[in-house]
Amino acid sequence: MLIKGASLLQAGEVIRDQNVLIEDNRIIKIGRSLKAEDDEIIDAKGMLAIPGLINGHTHLAMTLFRGYADDMKLMPWLEEKIWPLEAKLTPKDIQWGVKLGCLELIRLGVTCYNDMYYFMHETAEVTREMGLRAILSGVLFDMRPDLMNEAEPFVRRWKDDDLIRPAIGPHAVYTCSEETLHKARDLAEKYDLMLHIHLSETKDEVDRSIDEHGKTPVEYLDSIGFLSERVIAAHCIWLSPGDISTLARRKVNVAHCSISNHKLASGIAPLDKLLSAGVNVCLGTDGASSNNNLDLFQEMKMTAIAQKCAHFKPDLFRAEDIWKIATENAYAAFDLDLRLQEGSLADLSLIDLKKPWFCPRPLTNAVSHLVYSMLGGVDTTIVNGQVLMKEGIIPGEEEILEKSQEQFEDLVTR
Ligand SMILES: [Zn+2]
Repeated sequence: MLIKGASLLQAGEVIRDQNVLIEDNRIIKIGRSLKAEDDEIIDAKGMLAIPGLINGHTHLAMTLFRGYADDMKLMPWLEEKIWPLEAKLTPKDIQWGVKLGCLELIRLGVTCYNDMYYFMHETAEVTREMGLRAILSGVLFDMRPDLMNEAEPFVRRWKDDDLIRPAIGPHAVYTCSEETLHKARDLAEKYDLMLHIHLSETKDEVDRSIDEHGKTPVEYLDSIGFLSERVIAAHCIWLSPGDISTLARRKVNVAHCSISNHKLASGIAPLDKLLSAGVNVCLGTDGASSNNNLDLFQEMKMTAIAQKCAHFKPDLFRAEDIWKIATENAYAAFDLDLRLQEGSLADLSLIDLKKPWFCPRPLTNAVSHLVYSMLGGVDTTIVNGQVLMKEGIIPGEEEILEKSQEQFEDLVTR
């Protein structure tokens, strides 16, 4: 496949009028005068090619819960609304929720997502069918001990897949015993997988951990030997200075979810302190039930403005810093090379710059527009060398929208 005449965003810089040659699932060559014979050609004049984005923390099937429960605190939101609905979930709900979520990610230029939820086989199958890349963990909770039995078979089934990477997902310190956390860690070590957990999301979580263990959630996880570079910890809001040094020392990756944290009023994560301690932080949207969409561009903007305001410093968290967090840091966290360069995986999207919110166009710095003014315009999304959306068209979209609506109505009246 040859992408012709695109402007390319490479390491934050725009390079004009470039052709990108893709063979199988890799970018083979980038240059001004490339030719491809008898090949699929995508005319990308007037488009900006950007590298594939990774959603560092979400629960994709929960896209089916969008707008179902808003404006509540985290624990009543979980206990009164989300958990009772989740108790009724069937594989069919998951399939349509995940399809709907994939549709949204493709439309938003996200080529990979990191998920923790129920029914991971169904999630993996639908994600493959939709063509996206994903790191998937079946959630582990003490109140559902059967889930632990599903973890290893899921890993064995998917560990050699080229799009799906299994991981292990103990939900959080307040829902998993030490035994569950140890089993999760051992399984991750046995198969060399990532460990995906919610960590220090609310003040209440930290207070409970101190009451129960005499330690903060980070201190507790460290004391039981859980923390390492294979951990991706979502949220990480309520951290002591000691917690931040521990996360840095253990090389834990953090998925920062600014919009969800603000919507649930959980707090503002100490991003400046995490980053200056050397912690690798990337961005996630969390589920559409607490966001309420899966838009990483909105997440970038929110992260920037929330951090600026928290410190009364508009010069902190510049657009370039945020773009690096959203791309380079995510590639490091998930050990995926999606950079727009020769030899990288062919995950990218083309953005149509002929939109009012991209006008006037800066001559060299497109990052400002992507972080601060983006309101859509993804025209084409390519994952692993396959075109998933072209000229704004995703095959099967209408059916997915119709069926997810029916499935949502069925679920809430069941
Ligand atoms: Zn979450």
